[in-house]
Amino acid sequence: MFGEILNNYTLDSLKNGEFTLSENSIKQDLSLLIQALDSSISGIILTDNQQPDNPIIYCNKAFEFITGYKRHEIIGHNCRFLQKEDRGQKERSILRKAVEDGAECVVEMRNYQKNGTLFWNELYMSPIKDEQGNVCYFIGVQNDITRRKKAEQELLHQQNIMESQIQERTKSLKESEDYLSSIVQTVRESLVVLNPEFEVLSVNDHFLKTFKVSREETEGKLLYELGNGQWDIGKLKELLENILPTNNPVEEFEVEHDFPHIGKKLMLLNAHRIELEGQYKDRILIAIEDITDRREIERRKDDFLSIASHELKTPLTTIKGYIQVMQRLLPDSVGDKLKEILNKTGIYVERLNSLIAELLDMSKIQTGNIELHKETFDFDKAIHEAVENMQAATKTHHIIIRGHATNNYTGDESHIIQVINNLLSNAIKYAPDSEEVQVYLSRVSNFLKVSVSDKGMGIKIEEQKKIFDRFYRVGEIQQRFPGMGIGLYVCDQIIKNHGGTLWVESEPGNGSTFSFTLPLDEGRFNEQ
Ligand code: ADP
Repeated sequence: MFGEILNNYTLDSLKNGEFTLSENSIKQDLSLLIQALDSSISGIILTDNQQPDNPIIYCNKAFEFITGYKRHEIIGHNCRFLQKEDRGQKERSILRKAVEDGAECVVEMRNYQKNGTLFWNELYMSPIKDEQGNVCYFIGVQNDITRRKKAEQELLHQQNIMESQIQERTKSLKESEDYLSSIVQTVRESLVVLNPEFEVLSVNDHFLKTFKVSREETEGKLLYELGNGQWDIGKLKELLENILPTNNPVEEFEVEHDFPHIGKKLMLLNAHRIELEGQYKDRILIAIEDITDRREIERRKDDFLSIASHELKTPLTTIKGYIQVMQRLLPDSVGDKLKEILNKTGIYVERLNSLIAELLDMSKIQTGNIELHKETFDFDKAIHEAVENMQAATKTHHIIIRGHATNNYTGDESHIIQVINNLLSNAIKYAPDSEEVQVYLSRVSNFLKVSVSDKGMGIKIEEQKKIFDRFYRVGEIQQRFPGMGIGLYVCDQIIKNHGGTLWVESEPGNGSTFSFTLPLDEGRFNEQ
């Protein structure tokens, strides 16, 4: 009845005056009602609960618009046609229950327009009761909430992605934490982590074992208060305080101290700012290594080398002397064979002599006993003479000398000559397939510069720093060329003792250039 009125009496029929006077007031009310319902942006339907299958008896314009169906395709149908095949939605049972109970409900359902397009329908359903309280109709108000639903789903999707990313991240953080902590516990170095106030945040087991202390008496304490104040050293404090502001690490800082429980020890400290993917920038990690035994072994080895080379040198000098006497006393009548044997013996004794001299030089450097005999000499002349002597001793290579450095240099001439001899003999030794070695003398600002270039095998970039370490020889040449890996170490020390710098530029296969500079002004002369 209600639906009939609304559907049959369109606005036009009302306007055309098809009502009696008493009906006129109803007519006005209905006219207003129909206008109101048709201007609503929500789809509105009425269903008749008293008819079988609760059919739709009224729909407004917005409902036609939202669903894409025309009024004649809607009236008389049960609402379920809007779900098309998508009938499994749990909201349907909520609706069914509300109809049974004559109650109101709100559901969000997937509905389909006439052309099959999905839209999310927020349906508010409310019963209309007669005077006896029986439910006769239901009014359904629908809103297309597809956009909101999409945004919600998008948000949910993003949330899921974020959640799984967080889970991943947490898992990998946990893994790296476990990984780091197993490293920290395994390393054979004592590790200490400090906060910016130099309080100990944590130490590893090795620290506790090395210093024979407990975690309680270490963690939470100031570094400088540990033990008997072993780390309370002015210079160390200054370096540690610089780490966080400048990111300059503390490297190879030696602490010799009488520690509680463990006695006199030599410890080597390295400290760095900790940075874990941008986190923990305000932490300092100190690695402490007990080098007492290692230093003692090195000292004993140096002592041994020093004693051995001294002991070898004395008889060798005597042998050298006897060979010279024998060469002099040899009668002319003696055969060439004997002369040659004696000459070769002299050469080998000389080689042995220079090896022992190298060892002696090295142990003098190690013990700090190297003496500088400083005097002013003609530098260029001394280098020319050294080159001539080396040229006289080699038949395989041609040594070319160019340029000028100075005629007036103050330093230890014999040491400088030792350096040039060493660089020349290496240039000859490690360039067996070339014929030329070049020496270049020059002045650069207030420095003199000497360069020795060969066209030999060259040195790989990663080896170039190491060859100045004592006993270091490049792996592949060890078997082919005699040597002990001491020469460049001695040269480097001599040049440093004169306040200069020695370096190499080289490319494998393209030869090497060893250069050194020495300061010419007396004030910068570095006596050690
Ligand atoms: P030694 O020659 O006794 O091995 P050095 O200290 O003089 O010791 O040299 C150290 C190492 O540097 C050598 O073993 C060699 O590997 C490398 N080296 C030195 N000079 C040259 C050079 N001119 N060309 C290529 N390699 C060189």
